[in-house]
Amino acid sequence: MKNIIVAEAQGFCWGVRRALDIVEKHGELSILGDLIHNKQVVGKLEAKGKRVIHEVTGKENTPIVITAHGTTTENIAKVRNLDMQLIDTTCPLVSSIYEEGAKLEQEGYHILILGDRNHVEVRGIASRMREPIIANSFADLSAAKLPERVGVICQSTFSPKIFDQMVEAVRARCEEVKVKNTICAPTKRRQESAETLAKQVEVMVVVGGFHSSNTKKLATLTSKYVETHHIETATQLKESWFKEKNEIGITAGASTADWIIEEIADQIASFA
Ligand code: SF4
Repeated sequence: MKNIIVAEAQGFCWGVRRALDIVEKHGELSILGDLIHNKQVVGKLEAKGKRVIHEVTGKENTPIVITAHGTTTENIAKVRNLDMQLIDTTCPLVSSIYEEGAKLEQEGYHILILGDRNHVEVRGIASRMREPIIANSFADLSAAKLPERVGVICQSTFSPKIFDQMVEAVRARCEEVKVKNTICAPTKRRQESAETLAKQVEVMVVVGGFHSSNTKKLATLTSKYVETHHIETATQLKESWFKEKNEIGITAGASTADWIIEEIADQIASFA
């Protein structure tokens, strides 16, 4: 008999749920980038006339939606200059990163953002800072020229452990370092629950978009403890992963709907 345990904190985070609720309340919309890294949910939204666009052209004829992880000040200015309606679903926890960065700059620190420079959230944060340094890895950090006074902030979904290690490396190189850990509380809780569960099961299934930054981090974390499989849907499950394994853990990234997790748990149970 298989024991399938779903992590205590997993799936949709508060900020993504909030963004989806706002979008659901409107009619046709143009969503700038991925509202959610979840093809299944995006498909359902598209069926209701809410389409994803990758740049604002002015020919949209619908309000433009800024997603939960925000956007650059350039994009916002473009929408306003074109006199289009803007629906901003930026998560308040992302907005607070803008504020923390601005405060550090006012105090005279040069901003270092720990995060993925290609991610919409980091691009949005960077656009609000004065020539920030961006590092996503120790290699990036080694290659970066760091000034004497550095103010550190990070992407909301950054790994708490790597954050601490990278901050230590910055402290070793700079005269004065002020740190604001801007990893959001839901991300911290998801990582802690995933880690706890990974230590007690024989195999982990991590559910979420293959491009979802927080899902990839969950999979990297649990794979340190146990065999881990990252999937997007139940159809990607393989019966062989669960052969002779009775303790099975499931966790999911912030963009994964509850019904997808339920479907996956049912499918694994059917492999008995
Ligand atoms: S992961 Fe955190 S910052 Fe991002 S939308 Fe969710 S709650 Fe907000």
